[in-house]
Amino acid sequence: MILDKIDSLKSKYADYRLNKINKLEMSLNKAPGAVSASSNSPEKKMPDKLKITLKTLPKQLSIAKNIEKTIKSLDENPENPKMHMDSEFKDEFEKYASSLGINKIGYVDVPSDIIFQDRSILFKKTIVLTMEMDENAVNMAPSPQTQEDGILTYDELGKKTNLLAQYLRKNGFSSHPSHPAGGLVVYTKLAKKAGLGNIGRHGLLITPELGPRQRISAIFISAENLPDTSSDAHLWISEFCVSCGKCIKKCPNQAIVEKNTPQGLKTKIITDLCHGCTICMKECSFNRLGYQKIENNFHS
Ligand code: SF4
Ligand code: SF4
Repeated sequence: MILDKIDSLKSKYADYRLNKINKLEMSLNKAPGAVSASSNSPEKKMPDKLKITLKTLPKQLSIAKNIEKTIKSLDENPENPKMHMDSEFKDEFEKYASSLGINKIGYVDVPSDIIFQDRSILFKKTIVLTMEMDENAVNMAPSPQTQEDGILTYDELGKKTNLLAQYLRKNGFSSHPSHPAGGLVVYTKLAKKAGLGNIGRHGLLITPELGPRQRISAIFISAENLPDTSSDAHLWISEFCVSCGKCIKKCPNQAIVEKNTPQGLKTKIITDLCHGCTICMKECSFNRLGYQKIENNFHS
């Protein structure tokens, strides 16, 4: 009885926070000069139910607070922001990001068709950030430790993304941070476009440094002269994935489905079937064998 009441309170609280985030994010649609989604953009799926435990609650509260901060902090953007970033400051920014635990940085313009429907971003120029998920925790999947580390990395990267946005503001730029949990754009497609890696059949980003083991976030920024790190270097991964298919076989819920299309074999994650167990990340050949080994064999 008491446990039922606690569950009902937790779920009411989660609904309240999710609604608040939804409203805050949608308020940007009226911002002057905001870049909106296109008619082909995907729908943003807010989770129906958040799994909250006593152990994960503090991190989940911190995640909610930091998602709200991504929008509330926009008031602190300078009135006349800088539009040009010199290479000296770019190096400083990258060093600072690395000292905060950011693994990789990419730069790219966001295409409107990866902005979620009913969402807008303040600038097209984007800094893409990744952060490592703990190797041991991922390799323990499925386990509470894996779930906890997944939440912890979302929280850490969210906090660091807000810190970096603040750093950019202090140095004269307008910045719009996007939290790794949810966010305003399809992160895997953004990171692929920024040349950081490619998307595996499990729907996760695969990079040379970390295989599938990372979270992604972004900062949209007023600087218009940032480089474009787009690259075709990781396209071969799609070909390798066709011959592998391990994640599809290992998914305990058959949530990864494949179908033949005129453009070739495509996979889709059935979100209602996926319970976030992380087995597909653990079992991915790029996690088990490492990127370099697979690339060397593939090209030999
Ligand atoms: S159910 Fe688990 S293995 Fe299957 S797609 Fe979801 S996270 Fe991956
Ligand atoms: S398990 Fe295999 S098919 Fe699935 S994403 Fe990793 S490499 Fe690709």
